[in-house]
Amino acid sequence: MIIVMESSAGKEQVDHVVTLLREMGLKEHVIQGSERTVVAAIGDDRAKDKDALENAPGVEKVMPVLAPYKMASREVKTQRTVVALGGTLGGTVGGKKIAMIAGPCSVEDRNKLIEVAHMVKEAGATALRGGAFKPRTSPYAFQGLGEKGLQMLAEARDRTGLAVVTEVMAVEQVPLVAKYADVLQVGARNMQNYNLLWAVGDQQRPVLLKRGLSATLEEFMLAAEYIISRGNPNVMLCERGIRTFEGYCRNTLPLAIVPEIHRISHLPIVVDPSQGTGHAHLVPDMCKAAIAAGADGLIVEVHNDPEHALTDGAQSITPKMLESTMAILRKIAAAVDREM
Ligand code: PEP
Ligand code: MN
Repeated sequence: MIIVMESSAGKEQVDHVVTLLREMGLKEHVIQGSERTVVAAIGDDRAKDKDALENAPGVEKVMPVLAPYKMASREVKTQRTVVALGGTLGGTVGGKKIAMIAGPCSVEDRNKLIEVAHMVKEAGATALRGGAFKPRTSPYAFQGLGEKGLQMLAEARDRTGLAVVTEVMAVEQVPLVAKYADVLQVGARNMQNYNLLWAVGDQQRPVLLKRGLSATLEEFMLAAEYIISRGNPNVMLCERGIRTFEGYCRNTLPLAIVPEIHRISHLPIVVDPSQGTGHAHLVPDMCKAAIAAGADGLIVEVHNDPEHALTDGAQSITPKMLESTMAILRKIAAAVDREM
């Protein structure tokens, strides 16, 4: 970090800042300018208390230089993280091949799930999504089938080879969901549930971490850091849209985050154009845009009968739409030197 002193700051105040830095285990480099003095802190200051310095007499501002996250950053690991999804199809996220994770918003019924699983596999998906525990805005809305839903997902995996991606909402659900799922999804509403982040960091299944509805990129990265710092390196970030003033779509899908994450992090980034737009007719084009922007994977809601879906029918595409979209996505992937 850089500590910028006020123009009126005297030697005593600069010395005090130097003392504080040394107390923190850091070294200092004092730069005496013609207008004011600047003190550069030398050493890893990510975990140090910048507020104490900001409060010291004669200090104008403290400017961090290092990102506050470490294990999620490219400064620490330059090689890209490739996450194996599980299942028997050998799908990965973060390598040359772009992953398609597809399936219903929620698990509703065994036969319908198995039918749609076969269809998304046919279209080229390597993983099946579907919520058994659903975070719903209304307590009266369908909350998911719980463990029964997880069993249906596991059966669909056994029949198709698709990996299963499903949400875990609470710390105490982690062992149960990890028993059936290949990838644990931490939903947008739980991105800052730090106990849950620790709990998924303490187990071995890969984690799909969704960006919070109003989380900044830095907060998103720090949430990933929570998981990795507990010993689970297999984190996939997922942009699912943020809340803005805009009303024509359910959320605003900020795709610039894709190249930005590649710039600052080694973690793969998956895009969810279903929650990201809220409208099925917008999903295929946003899939295309996400691939063009460099996304490592897509997670898309697919339903055989969207009109009768129990959750998120308006944003669910049909297996047929998925198939035709995939044909175009393969061309876009090739154009950006990827495969799909
Ligand atoms: C979902 O994937 O259906 C879901 C609820 O996602 P999010 O947490 O992004 O809203
Ligand atoms: Mn949904």
